Parts: sequence; C-alpha cells; structure tokens
Amino acid sequence: MSKEKLKVLMAEDNPTDALIIKKKLQKDGAFDYEVTHVVSGEEALLSLEKSAYNIVLLDYNLPKKCGLEILEEIKRKNIEVPVIMVTGQGDEIVAAQLIKEGALDYLPKRENYEDAVPFMIRKTISEFRSKLEREKLQREIALKKEELEKTNAQLLELDRMKSDFVANVVHELRTPLTIIKGNLDNIEKGFAGEVQPKQKEILADIFGVINRLSRLVNDLLDLSKIESGKMELNKENLDMAELAGEVVKTFEALAGSKKIGIIKDFPDKAVRVNADRDKLTQVFINLIGNAIKFTDKGNVTVKIIDMQEEAVAEIQDTGPGIPGDQVDKIFDKFTRVVAEKKEGTGLGLPIAKDIVSLHKGRMRVESESGKGSRFIFVIPKSI
Ligand code: ADP
Repeated sequence: MSKEKLKVLMAEDNPTDALIIKKKLQKDGAFDYEVTHVVSGEEALLSLEKSAYNIVLLDYNLPKKCGLEILEEIKRKNIEVPVIMVTGQGDEIVAAQLIKEGALDYLPKRENYEDAVPFMIRKTISEFRSKLEREKLQREIALKKEELEKTNAQLLELDRMKSDFVANVVHELRTPLTIIKGNLDNIEKGFAGEVQPKQKEILADIFGVINRLSRLVNDLLDLSKIESGKMELNKENLDMAELAGEVVKTFEALAGSKKIGIIKDFPDKAVRVNADRDKLTQVFINLIGNAIKFTDKGNVTVKIIDMQEEAVAEIQDTGPGIPGDQVDKIFDKFTRVVAEKKEGTGLGLPIAKDIVSLHKGRMRVESESGKGSRFIFVIPKSI
C-alpha cells in the first residue's frame, strides 16, 4: 500500500543536524516524507507562503529571527500548519511560551534528539488532525445550533400568529352567536307569533347546539388568553373550602338527577389562599363538572386539605376512570378519551391546569380504568 505523502519544511541552520534528521525520516515508515530544507526564518516564511506544508520543524535559534518571531508571523499570516519547535538545551521556559503562541510541540536539542523527530512528527500530525476535526465538529454544532434557534424563533412567531388568529376568529364568533341566541329566545317566548309544540322541540335542539358552540367559543377564548399571556389574575384572600362549597351547591341538582351523591370533606377552619376567585371557581366547575358528567353511579367527593404552605383540593369520583396509556394525554387540548357520548370540548382540563399553573400551583390525576379518578391540585397559599 502506498504511504501518505507528508511535506515537511525543516528550518535548520546546522547542516549536520539537517542531514541526520533527513536520514531518520527516510528510514521511518510512517509517511512518505518530502523534506524541504531552509536555513533561515525568512526563507521558512517565504516557503510557507509559496506552498502548503503538512508540518514545520523549526529551529528556535535561527540567525536574525528567533523561533518565537517566526511563529508570530505564521500566525499573523493565517497559515494553518503544525509547528514543532526545536529548542536549545534548557529552553523549557521559552518552550512553554512557544506552546502558548501556537507551536504544537517542542523538542529540546539534547544528544541524539534527532532519533525522536519521526515520533514527534507522527504525534504532532495526529494531534493537529484531531484538533482540526474537533474544530470542524464545533463549527458544525454551532451552525446547527444557529439553524435550530432560527427555526425555533420562526415556530414561536407562527405559534403567536396562530394564537392571535384563533383569538380574533373566536372573538368575532361571539357577537353573531349572541344575536342568534337573543333572536331564538324571542321566537321561543312567542314574540314573533305563537310557537307550535313541534317548533318548540326544534328550537330546543337548536338551543342545545348554540349552547355547545358558546361553550366552545368561551373555552377557546380563555385558552388563547392564557397562551398569549393575556390572562391576568385578580387575586384576593379567599377561603378555598367555601369557594368549593359554592360550586358543589350549583351541581347538586344535576348530581341528584343522576342519583349521584356529592360528599364534601372540608376542614373545620377556613383554608385561606391568595387567588383569583373567578378563575379558581372555573377550575372547580371544570373538575367537579367532569366528575359528575363521567360518573353514572356512586359518589363524587370534594376534599380540601389545609397544608402549611399550600391548599390542596381533591375531586374524586367512582366513574369509569382513565386508561393508563391515556392519563398523560388528557391535559392536552381537544383530548377526549371516554367521552364520545358525553358533551364536551376537550378544553376543560387544559384550561383548569393552566389556571392552576398561573397561580404557581400544580395539577395531576390518579386514575385507573374502571375504578374512578382523582384529580388533585395544589395552590401555594401566598403568591
Ligand atoms: P371534556 O370534558 O370537555 O371532554 P376535558 O378537557 O375536561 O374535556 O377532559 C378531557 C377528557 O378527559 C374527557 O373527554 C375524558 O375523556 C377525560 N376525563 C376528564 N375527567 C374525567 C373523569 N372525571 N373521569 C373520566 N375521564 C375524565
């Protein structure tokens, strides 16, 4: 197999040393060495400018220009080539400075130092190539990082545009919906003439659809507000148990009609938190509403626990539960697992979780298919 050609520039003013080194390289089997020999720093620089070399063997003590000056020139001229500096005996301090200035290695001129030259060249070439490889990789990584940052910024901008678009469309939907509802209301009340029983039935169906649409529009509006950071909290000092109790009361009739019991498990004393009343009410409505909606027999238990720094709410039901592989997904927008036959938008849980997060709290669910679900959320008492 033919060996790799290695172009060596040797700057050495001692002809005997130069000859010995040449011979050593001829004998070394690692490369097919092509040695150019010059006797001064100026010549070395000229040669480097004229043609490319794989490595430079540079005597530190050349006449006129010392090794350090030549090294600086090489650097200044942006010539990328590994340099082994051959220093005088006892020049270790100089050597340290040479390395700092960019020499890859140095070789003190001890007796028979020429024996070490082939090994030094092999080592330096391998280190230099690794360094180039590393630098190439680093450049590639930096480029990829830049590309990713750019893509990320574009995605964020697109996401913002999408959120704005949704918010605008949803907002525009609200007005016609209100008008349709108002007019239907008037028809139903007989303001436009007597309403026949069959017509009443049809109107009831239309009301059902309109109400569903209104809920979806309101949920979407809430979510887009949260996502765009426009939802603000009007915090006040309130009793979380009292608030939960109020929501439970509004669901008692619905639970009764389904023959489901609602159990309140509240502490004796008030559980004071600094929170937004309307938003926290929304969280309880969504969770208790779901618990009743998905449960066909048994109970829904609403428990409030007073921890030192936090208030905890648990809404437990004896409903169908959530299959293990779906549990992680139910807080995602529009995810509906067992709800095909139940009304809903698939936005109640994401909204509830986001509201809790806005309060610097957290929400999770414990559930097992067939055994019911327990939604737990925690709100820090003072934020
Ligand atoms: P929606 O109730 O409008 O469908 P949610 O975001 O409130 O939307 O809930 C998402 C899905 O999570 C529901 O469709 C249902 O599959 C599941 N889920 C939520 N709460 C319960 C519950 N208490 N028991 C069983 N499944 C539930």
